[in-house]
Formats: sequence, C-alpha cells, structure tokens
Amino acid sequence: MSDALTALRTAFGYEGFRPGQEAAIESVLAGRDTLVVLPTGGGKSVCFQIPALVLPGLTVVVSPLISLMKDQVDALEARHLPAAFINSSLSSGQVSDRMARAVRGEIKLLYLAPERFDFGNVASRLAGIVSLLAVDEAHCISQWGHDFRPSYLRVAEARRMLGSPPTIALTATATPEVRVDICRQLALRNPQTIITGFDRTNLTYHVLPARNDAEKDALLVRTLKARDGLAIVYATTRKAVDRLGFLLEQKGISAAAYHAGLDDSQRRNVQDAFMNERIRAIIATNAFGMGIDKPNVRLVLHHSMPGTLEAYYQEAGRAGRDGAHSDVFLLHSFPDRFIHEFFIRNAYPERISVQQLYDALRKRASSGGILPALPEDILPLVGTKLSAREIESALRILQTAGAIVIAGGSASCVSVRLLATPQRIKREITGEANPELGLLRALWRTAGNSFSTGATVDLDFLPPGLATRSGAPAILDSLQSRQFLVWERLNSGLSITNPATTAAALAVDWAGLGKRRAAEISKLDAVQRYAYTRACRRGFVLRYFGDPAARNRCDGCDNCLGTAAQRQPLVNAGRPSTSRRRRESKGSSGSRPATCSRKELAAGLSRGSRETEPKMSLDATAERLFSALRTRRSEIARDEKVPAYIVFSDRTLAEIAVQRPLSLNALSGVRGVGEAKLARYGEALLAVIREAG
Ligand SMILES: [Zn+2]
Repeated sequence: MSDALTALRTAFGYEGFRPGQEAAIESVLAGRDTLVVLPTGGGKSVCFQIPALVLPGLTVVVSPLISLMKDQVDALEARHLPAAFINSSLSSGQVSDRMARAVRGEIKLLYLAPERFDFGNVASRLAGIVSLLAVDEAHCISQWGHDFRPSYLRVAEARRMLGSPPTIALTATATPEVRVDICRQLALRNPQTIITGFDRTNLTYHVLPARNDAEKDALLVRTLKARDGLAIVYATTRKAVDRLGFLLEQKGISAAAYHAGLDDSQRRNVQDAFMNERIRAIIATNAFGMGIDKPNVRLVLHHSMPGTLEAYYQEAGRAGRDGAHSDVFLLHSFPDRFIHEFFIRNAYPERISVQQLYDALRKRASSGGILPALPEDILPLVGTKLSAREIESALRILQTAGAIVIAGGSASCVSVRLLATPQRIKREITGEANPELGLLRALWRTAGNSFSTGATVDLDFLPPGLATRSGAPAILDSLQSRQFLVWERLNSGLSITNPATTAAALAVDWAGLGKRRAAEISKLDAVQRYAYTRACRRGFVLRYFGDPAARNRCDGCDNCLGTAAQRQPLVNAGRPSTSRRRRESKGSSGSRPATCSRKELAAGLSRGSRETEPKMSLDATAERLFSALRTRRSEIARDEKVPAYIVFSDRTLAEIAVQRPLSLNALSGVRGVGEAKLARYGEALLAVIREAG
C-alpha cells in the first residue's frame, strides 16, 4: 500500500486517497476481484491506474466511452505513464502497432473498446501478460441496468481468454440487482464490493407535490424567486422546455431553453450565456446530455419526475459541485408516472402484441416472405391497437430473434440533417481513416447545402469505399448521439426469415423480455416512492444505491427539516407532529407554499387513515387562526388543569381554522365538536375567530 501512496503522490500529485479509493486499491493489490461503485467525479480511474503502475505486467481497461478513453490516455501520457487506447477511430496499422507495443511490455495501461474483442484475436494475443483487467462502466453488462450494451457481454468471454486475471469492475450507478448481475456476468470470484461517496452532504433535497402542470409552474416560479443563485430546470419534453422558458422570461427570470432541437451555434450561445451568468436559469430536457459543468449551480429543479432514481440523482447532482450549500427540488404529481409507463410499454411490448404483429406480417408477405412495407405502413396493416413505437419495438424484438430482416431490398433511404459546424467536426472527429468523417463527407457530397437544412439520401448511392450500407446506420446513430446530426430511416423493406415459422414457435426470450419490463417498472416505482416518502430522502437515496452511509435522519432534506410542503401530517393524534414542532420552534413560516383551498383541506382532514391519505397544509390565513385557537386552548387547559388535547384536538382546531364558523350552530358542524364541548367552549372559540377577522 505504501507503493500505491507513493505512486499517487509522485505520478498524480495527490496527497491522499479519496473515500473508497484506498479500500479498492488494497483489494486489487491483494489479488482480489473487486467491484467499485463510486459516483461520477468520485475518482474511479485512480482505483485501477494506481494498481496498474504498481503491478508488473499490463492492465487492460475496457471502456465504452471513446472520447473519455482518449482524454485519460492523454492525461496519463502527460505524466509520462505509458498508456494507449484501441478503438474504432484508429486505422488497422495503428491498431497492430499498439498491440505489438503492449505485447512487448512497452505499455502499462491499454484501453480497449469492448467491440475490439471481436477482432484479430485481441484477447488471445494478450493472454498471460495481463495482471489486471479493469471493466469501466460495468453496469453496461447488465440487462437490468439502464444502459445495457450487448458488446459488454463479450467481456466475460474475453476475461476467460485472458486467463481470468484479477478483475476490478467499476460503475457510478448500480442498484443491488445490477451489482449482483455484474459479478455473475463477469464470473468474479468472491468479490470485494466497495460502495461509497454517494452522499452529497451539501445538497438539501425537497419534493413539492402538485396536482397538475399549472400548480407546478407556480411552484417553479415561486421557488426560483424565493432563492438566489444559478438554476438548472429539467423538463421531460422539448415542448415543455420551450414553454417553461417562455414562462420564466414572462415572470422576469432570465432563462434559456437547451435541447436537441438547437443547432451547434444556438447551443453554444445558451451555454456561454449560462457559463458567464448572463442568464440565471437553463431549462433542459432530461434525456439531452448537457455539456455544461458549472460548479456554482445553487438550484436544480425537476419540473417532472424522471423515470429512475439513477437519472434523478445524476441530474440533481449538478447542483453544488463547488461544495457550497445547494437545493434540489422535485416537482411531482402522480400522473408524472404515466409518461414513463408509456415509454416502458412501448419499449417492451407484450408477448401477445409481438405475436400478433408477426402473424399480420406473415399474412401480408409474399410467398418468399418479402413485405414491401415501410414501418409506418405496418400500423394500418396490423390492425391491432399497437402504437407506432410499440410496433418499432416489436419489430426490433423479431429482428433480434432472427425472425425478420429489416432493410432488405432497396430500403436505404434516410433523412438526415447536419447540426454540427464544420469547425466542430474538424475539432472532434480526427483521423483521415475515421469512418465517421468518411460518411459525413460522402453525405455532404451527395446532399450539398441541403445537408444542413435536411436532406433525403439513399445510402446505396453514396460514393463507394466508405462504410457499407449496413454499417452506415450504426455510424449515423453514433453521430446522432453526440448531436452532430439527426437522422431517421425513411424507407425500410422487411422480409420474414422463414415464413413457415409460426408466432408460437418464435425464438424470442419472452421471460427475459418480461423481466426487463418488470425491472424498468420497479425503477419507476422506486423514484415515485422517493417522491412520496415521509422518511429521510437522503437515507432513501443512499439505501437505494447501497451506500453504507445511509442513515434514518439527516439535516438536509425537507422531511428531516420539517419543511416538506403539503402532504405533511397536519395534525397527529392530538399532538403536534415532529415536523410541526420543528417548524414552530424555528418560528418560520417562510417560503412554504400555501396552495390549498379550504375545501381541499377540509376534504383532506375528513378522510380516514392518516398514514395512507395525503395531508394538506393550511394556507397562511388559516395558519394564523389555527395558532390563535391553540393559544386560547392552552389558556383553557391551564385554567381547567387538564391536558390541552382533552379540550380540543389539533385536528379539530385545524378544521375550525379552515371552516371559520361564525355561529354556534356552524361550529357544531365541525368534526370533534360535541354538544358538551360546544356548550363549554363554543363562545370562547367564536371570540377568537371573530377577533381574527
Ligand atoms: Zn433527511
């Protein structure tokens, strides 16, 4: 371990390890398989880079992030640490050169994209000289994770071919289920698991319940006005982002929208404005990767609930990167769930739907199994209640199972629009042999200027010599994921592999499909439970990620602070709830939203079970009256030498505060005011109500 610390100081210039790093390195140096779960920015790479320097032989690092790969290697080389990467951006000459250097022992760290294990016996050439295998973004190997990549399944086989060297798997997000899956898929032996660093102690977590978008809008504006500092607002759709941008401007909060509909220069303008603090808030779609890392963001507000707690935590985590206190708010209404359910249903259609689609296709196909249909034409053909997206997913399932082939015949027309500027392309896509560059050039030559406004291109008629038609969609996808362009297929013919195969005989992994769907739903349930929990939200999140730092209380969430908006127990069996006592002891009525009408409050109060029914909070006027009534009750209780709750319960006083009865008759209609109490205390209470006005 002292070698490790020396390496850390001399090679990296750090004084000491960050939480989790030391334990991980110790485990790796002891030759144990190790699973490390550290959040983004927690210093994962040190966990394998230090052992790589200390151990003899080669460390192979598997990573799917091609751009990060280059950054890491550049950083290592700048420190005179021999490292190299091999991925699709290299020519075959460059690849064999780097492989040869690795085999000769001239490289300590070799970064590989998982796909590389398919080529040129990479794994068998390296067998025997690898002392450590590091699998970064290890959650990609799990089908239950949020970012499953089939190429990762090859890593397990590659590990065997390398001679099963000690292995460290690293990820920033993994639920317990995914962790088990990582260890199983990679066949780790009795792995040491290290999970730490998820607790962002400078963040305070809030949830603001609302019934609809109008209430959310009001809460959003109020929250932004009640607090200072830069803010990021997340919304689900581009439309919502634009709408909220307009709303905030209207309310005098300088803000700009940021989503995939912007081209490079627009996006850069918005980024610059935010980075230079010319605008206060940026509004972004959840799905859109944001190239903004601003350390002094003080507020992150989600206008709608994300589909997973992983996504929520990652996005909320953009607040307070500088370590200063920051607040994160989730605006939540129950229907938020439905949009995610809709997406999940579309992505994982029911077995019966897939079979119906397949039957319909078989019926329409020619005897050779050819179906000259475009995907959008399939909708009326099938005649079921499937949505276009469900059909798309069902087709993909059938394709994966080998039951159909999509894009046969002349089905190669795509519409494509360039987003990136030539300067950005030049800067970010390097290497003359890069197939991405080749494809962009070919598209430009074919489409000319219309490439930047939107062109239709037949991939079959692109200049020869670049990626074949079958390879082009993957390259287009990759370019789209980095916002270089947007594309979609205009035409895809379809053929049935074997028209004799019946729907019942399809070789589809139905159980796996159902399990993936269930996993998605359970993630959705978890984030919704987070929204509804009355327990410590920090503890909830940390338990979800399996971080042993989880506690039952904290001083940085609305539930623990007693500031939770609405749905907090208004009264609790005749004595003030903990949260109310805390709130009162602080003497703050502060920025708490007061959105409930009397009717709602009364409705909330007259319901039965306290544990299951949502509770409403009082509006400001009712709050004042409630407090005056309680003062009067204390006086009565003192005079009569009985406990206050014997006189009236808090619940009854709260209901009186909302209903404001002005006569004994009206007062008798309030729950908890019996004849005896009416006679005894009625006038006294009415006096308080009249006095309050
Ligand atoms: Zn808490």
